[in-house]
Amino acid sequence: MVLSDLGRRINTAFQDLSKVPTVDAASIDQLLKSVCNALIEADVNVKLVANLRSQVKSQVTALLNDKANANWSDAQRRQRVQKAVFDHLVALVDPLHGQTKTDDESGAVVASGNAGPGDIFKPKKGKPNVIMFVGLQGSGKTTSCTKLALYYQKRGFKTGLVCADTFRAGAFDQLKQNASKINVPFYGSYTETDPVAISAAGVASFKQNRFEVIIVDTSGRHKQEQELFDEMREIDAAVTPDLTIMVLDANIGQAAEAQSRAFKEAAGYGAIIVTKLDGHAKGGGAISAVAATKTPIMFIGTGEHAADLEPFRAQPFISKLLGMGDITGLMDKMEEMQMNGGQERQQEMLKKIGEGGVFSIRDWREQLSNIMGMGPLSKIAGMIPGMGQMLSGAGGDDEAAGGKMKRMMFITDAMTAEELDSDGRLFYVPIRSKKPPVADTKEVAIAESSTAAEKSKKKKKPQPKVRMTARARRVARGSGTSVKEVEEFLMQYRMVGKMINRFGGKDGWLKQMQGGA
Ligand code: GDP
Repeated sequence: MVLSDLGRRINTAFQDLSKVPTVDAASIDQLLKSVCNALIEADVNVKLVANLRSQVKSQVTALLNDKANANWSDAQRRQRVQKAVFDHLVALVDPLHGQTKTDDESGAVVASGNAGPGDIFKPKKGKPNVIMFVGLQGSGKTTSCTKLALYYQKRGFKTGLVCADTFRAGAFDQLKQNASKINVPFYGSYTETDPVAISAAGVASFKQNRFEVIIVDTSGRHKQEQELFDEMREIDAAVTPDLTIMVLDANIGQAAEAQSRAFKEAAGYGAIIVTKLDGHAKGGGAISAVAATKTPIMFIGTGEHAADLEPFRAQPFISKLLGMGDITGLMDKMEEMQMNGGQERQQEMLKKIGEGGVFSIRDWREQLSNIMGMGPLSKIAGMIPGMGQMLSGAGGDDEAAGGKMKRMMFITDAMTAEELDSDGRLFYVPIRSKKPPVADTKEVAIAESSTAAEKSKKKKKPQPKVRMTARARRVARGSGTSVKEVEEFLMQYRMVGKMINRFGGKDGWLKQMQGGA
């Protein structure tokens, strides 16, 4: 089962739970059975799945049986069960789970589940930072070396690439070509056959020239061989890397655990890059490797191009997998945009939110327009809460994602200046309560995932507390869309706005962005 199907299956299991009259032991068992079957079919290690099942079961049983929680409504009980599953899925891909880490520079506590590449490894400015890559042949090692070089180069580090792969014919040419494309200096040799000598000389040369990030691509083999491990140990001794990264192909399947353990013993890597998560990989094997070796995933590879490298954070990854969006991923993209020349408006917006200002519809429209220029849209769309699910029928189709985003832009084009500068509440009138509609993000995200058909099947629709004003009808008419689309647009805007406002301020992502990689 491919990873996106896994997300859909778990989501369906959540939806099934919301259809049962009461959340009891039987319905929890049913949910866990569906979740666990889906995980096993995605190649997650059977023992890990069994652990997850028993842990979630005992946690929710204790919660629901606790007298203090006796007055919980069914909706609350459901939410707690879903949260427990969500948290355990995060734990599955996050070996730091349960631990708090402190950011070296800011001293801020990095929440478990949200730790990113900078928490795993932060290159020091003005010093040589050597990163060594290991992995089997074909796993995507050379490609990932290039991607990482580009990543650090964009962040202002003087970066160089060393090709110590003397085993695979053409490896040096490949790295050379990749490096030239991204304008990163490279070191290698057509004649020297000793990988240890090449890596030592390459690293020494880059160090002499005050390079700050030096990435060493070592050779792989088709399978784990003593020769490969010996070579890795020797290169390790010669270049004394500050970080060793193992590259794992997401298609690896159940072999992941044994392979990652063997590499761990030989190379003692400190981070993992999982490649080819854009394709039809099951991915569960790679997830199992994380747990087996207690090593965090630092990045995921999502394509063949140099820019197709995404920082990995456990919580947003699971959130995106389940169709709930990945706002931090979106922030990473925005950050990158800023670094690539940046726009004054972007800076202004960040400053405004940092100072507690409102993230308006106009701000969201600008972000959408920027996002549309970032491409490929099918990848980015999944980061916007609710959007991935809406587009899931399109099967990662860029055109469908682009079409959807264009319609969102049409909606904003039909708005007045007053509406654009607002936070959207003027599109609603209260029916019963005078309060503006403030939706709980998680609730909305989960509720959103049910399809329109499923929603209409539900007999008892909860009485809405707000309804759309005539403005929404006007905007729908003016943009050639429907009121439902305007409503969806506003719901997405609210979800994003709520998260962005939460990330703003002194301790939010703004601070992180200003703190560097
Ligand atoms: P190496 O032998 O480990 O150095 O592997 P390469 O870097 O040469 O990659 C092997 C193949 O996988 C190449 O065709 C790459 O373009 C492809 N590849 C690497 N990473 C990714 C990825 O994240 N997504 C996709 N779709 N292909 C990738």
